[in-house]
Amino acid sequence: MIITDTHTHLYSEAFDEDRHSVIKRALQLGVSRFFIPAIDSTYTEAMLQLEKDFPEHVFLMMGLHPTHVKDNYMDELKHVEALFLKRQFYAVGEIGIDLYWDKSTLDIQKKAFQYQIKLAKRYQLPIVIHCRDAFDEIFEVLEAEMDDDLFGIFHCFTGTIEQAHKAISFNMKLGIGGVVTFKNGKIDQFLSQIDLSHIVLETDAPYLSPVPYRGKRNESAHIINVLEKLSEIYRVSKDDIAKITTQNSKDVFKI
Ligand SMILES: [Zn+2]
Repeated sequence: MIITDTHTHLYSEAFDEDRHSVIKRALQLGVSRFFIPAIDSTYTEAMLQLEKDFPEHVFLMMGLHPTHVKDNYMDELKHVEALFLKRQFYAVGEIGIDLYWDKSTLDIQKKAFQYQIKLAKRYQLPIVIHCRDAFDEIFEVLEAEMDDDLFGIFHCFTGTIEQAHKAISFNMKLGIGGVVTFKNGKIDQFLSQIDLSHIVLETDAPYLSPVPYRGKRNESAHIINVLEKLSEIYRVSKDDIAKITTQNSKDVFKI
């Protein structure tokens, strides 16, 4: 079984004490493909080191996270662009709009989001979207940027079925993680109506641990609990969920 974690921050300081055992635990369960979203320039070195340590398993993205879009965002975007000139990444991410933490930066968040979508198109890469309390604002940008070169993943999708269909209409897969196991997570209610061809798995480690680890540090091995939940929801074997969602991840990331 090959399971793909399409969104895991394995370079996070939360794993500084035991990163190698965290990755080993995942590998033992068949979780062997890790896609690594960026946050800002302060993490670049740690990401490159992670790739050096696990070259066969780690696939890096590059981008500026919406909650890190501050006054210096143009410098951060230049850092992102310089890295794309220098080497290969598998997506522009994570990017998007987050109005939960800070509404005052909406304007520059939108600009940074759109700027990075254009960068992704230039390199024919997928985008990985972070959306929190900002579906309308994100859809507005996607609407403006919609064309054949726009595709990617709506990471940690937690919207309604209407928003799911809308995201899919913009060539996005839905990244499903721990929230699907939550009692009040809601997406488990309608997910079976969304074809599995639109679904990829993720943890967002160290955040959003699935039940029964809710509230604790998340790690990529816990993606098994997400896999099990999807197997129940879709009435499809765990093997097939792994196979289909890994293939979907290959379709998006081209690796
Ligand atoms: Zn993330």
